[in-house]
Amino acid sequence: MAVTVAILGSLNLDVVFSCDSLPAPGETILCSDVRSGPGGKGLNQAVAARRAGCAVILIGAVGRDANGVTLLGTLEQEGIDPDRIARLDDAPTGLAHIMVDRGGENSIVVASGANKADFPLRSLIDGIEAPVFLAQLEVGLAPIKAFFAQARRAGSRTILNAAPAIPAASALFEDSDILILNEHELAQFSGASRPASDEAAIAEAARSLMVRDDQAIIVTLGARGTQIIDATGSRRIPARMVTVTDTTGAGDCFCGVLAASLARGAALADAVGRANLAASLAVQRSGAAAAMPTAAEIDAA
Ligand code: ATP
Repeated sequence: MAVTVAILGSLNLDVVFSCDSLPAPGETILCSDVRSGPGGKGLNQAVAARRAGCAVILIGAVGRDANGVTLLGTLEQEGIDPDRIARLDDAPTGLAHIMVDRGGENSIVVASGANKADFPLRSLIDGIEAPVFLAQLEVGLAPIKAFFAQARRAGSRTILNAAPAIPAASALFEDSDILILNEHELAQFSGASRPASDEAAIAEAARSLMVRDDQAIIVTLGARGTQIIDATGSRRIPARMVTVTDTTGAGDCFCGVLAASLARGAALADAVGRANLAASLAVQRSGAAAAMPTAAEIDAA
């Protein structure tokens, strides 16, 4: 039977407007192109893990609306069972409006809708068994707590991608075996006014978040790759030099592939290397979930 990753997270319909410039407050602008596609950190990471060769149990919620039908269709196409996706009558499917200017700068508004609605989660997470449980912060913190409690009961490893940076989420760090953050999230959680730049300063900021000796913290550094900080020290794993098309979803690709590799039994540094490689493929393509590479593509790279 295939190795499984359990993921709790958001599902959004992303609507991406390509504009010459971003609108100022009170301004109306016309854009040259608009596209919609599946997104949300939970869905993106689930597609990344699935394409990397793992079975995926995805727990989340959509509304009983057309966008929800579209996202469930995406899961089916990707071979991800939609059985543990709640369909809610009283909340709309999550929706993200993303405006991107010619320089690649963006402004994003997310209406969380069903992702943050109160719904009976227990029946969706009870009894889940998987070697790795992965969550991000676009859903409520109480559901993540319950999800990680199930991971403990199952004797599994927990990974928290602490994005977006919500200060109250530090209460979940003690339940997380591995924390993944980008430089900005690390600065926000460690109370710094701006991101640390050199390896020693990043390691120090990461250590300030550790609540257990057996935790590992992974800081993603965009084109500079990744830094791993754990009890044994700190080390950098560089990214591959590539020509970037669109970095949307790079972090999600990294998290999904890392979880898949760890579930298959890889050592942490090897899993990080493979996740870096996968993310370097994703940034060469447009879109979020659509850009995730397959296991064969990662092997070939
Ligand atoms: P996003 O919010 O854009 O999805 P993020 O800010 O969460 O991403 P990053 O640190 O930008 O995360 O990127 C995650 C990983 O993707 C990096 O650690 C690296 O492996 C890969 N990556 C990102 N940008 C590049 C790049 N320009 N070239 C090669 N690899 C990249």
